[in-house]
Amino acid sequence: GFRMGIVGLPNVGKSTLFNALTKTAAAQAANFPFCTIEPNVGDVAVPDRRLAQLAEIAKSKQVIPARLTFVDIAGLVKGASKGEGLGNQFLANIREVDAIAHVLRCFEDEDVTHVDGRVDPVADAETIETELMIADMESIEKRMQNLVRKIRGGDKEAVQQERLLKMAMEALENGQPARTVEIADDDRKAWRMLQLLTQKPVLYVCNVDEAEAGTGNAQSERVAAMAAEQGNAHVVISAKIEEEISQLDAEEAEMFLSEMGLEEAGLDRLIKAGYGLLHLETYFTVGPKEARAWTIPVGTLAPQAAGVIHGDFEKGFIRAETIGYDDYVALGGEQAAKDAGKMRAEGKAYTVRDGDVMHFLFNT
Ligand code: GDP
Repeated sequence: GFRMGIVGLPNVGKSTLFNALTKTAAAQAANFPFCTIEPNVGDVAVPDRRLAQLAEIAKSKQVIPARLTFVDIAGLVKGASKGEGLGNQFLANIREVDAIAHVLRCFEDEDVTHVDGRVDPVADAETIETELMIADMESIEKRMQNLVRKIRGGDKEAVQQERLLKMAMEALENGQPARTVEIADDDRKAWRMLQLLTQKPVLYVCNVDEAEAGTGNAQSERVAAMAAEQGNAHVVISAKIEEEISQLDAEEAEMFLSEMGLEEAGLDRLIKAGYGLLHLETYFTVGPKEARAWTIPVGTLAPQAAGVIHGDFEKGFIRAETIGYDDYVALGGEQAAKDAGKMRAEGKAYTVRDGDVMHFLFNT
């Protein structure tokens, strides 16, 4: 599955947020740095109103949402790339995620220590990015040395790797993260395989005070401007509110939200933003037994989409019977959609669309 790493300086609200996301007390929030020592991993249901609607129409017994994995990664400090604090562990963990949710402290609270003694989310973001850039430069240097012998031996992949590493290095030396490098289509795969830390897309999570959850504040606006300039995404949430909401049942949560003047839980926005950041989308399988959401990268072809359910579906793929979400709902179900001629038979070259309701036919 797809993994988002939650990173940020100590005491910015990572644990609080992670607890809310996973509704467990596993990652204990506490008012001192370094309290999250091991990475905590939690699977989170991806909120999608469409799924409930499909399940209602099909009278599905079970409803199974798509899932996204969040990893709470131990606090980073200045000097992490030099192996201080929990740095090395941090860097190892961050390599393994697909995208980064970077929590930034945008709340004032005299009782909560800030590691640098002031609330400045833009400076904090730079602190972390700088550490990641230094770590990338060091890892590139090491890798270049290892490539020398392979290149002499005529290894074509090594030549490509060296070329890409040089491109990354040039950007980093100019103070730019690797994600800013423009990559030709032919190089995309090898580029991803480099697994550089600053290649990963970033979602800034502005953690604001409870009262500012709906509006944001001056600090979160600074982050928004920075994110826009960088081409990164951002969301404004209050981790504390989310933690409170996570302890309520669905009905209570809705009441609480409307009392606070909020339309949607911040976590829902966060998860959706993560989904978008990873260029993911959803298709559905719907029947009386279950309604289920499946996650695919945008642009996935029908056989590979089938392969998310089971490898055999991909190998033996014949065709997909497909109904668009809007047709399914407007016409009131599979049979009605079929009768109206809205069920399409799609072949191997079909690019699955977000919201498609699919039924795969395959050889065994
Ligand atoms: P981490 O070190 O980044 O994991 O931070 P924690 O989640 O442990 O939070 C550090 C402290 O800040 C805890 O005492 C939290 O209760 C508090 N905290 C987290 N979010 C907020 C917030 O939005 N407002 C205020 N006032 N305190 C918060």
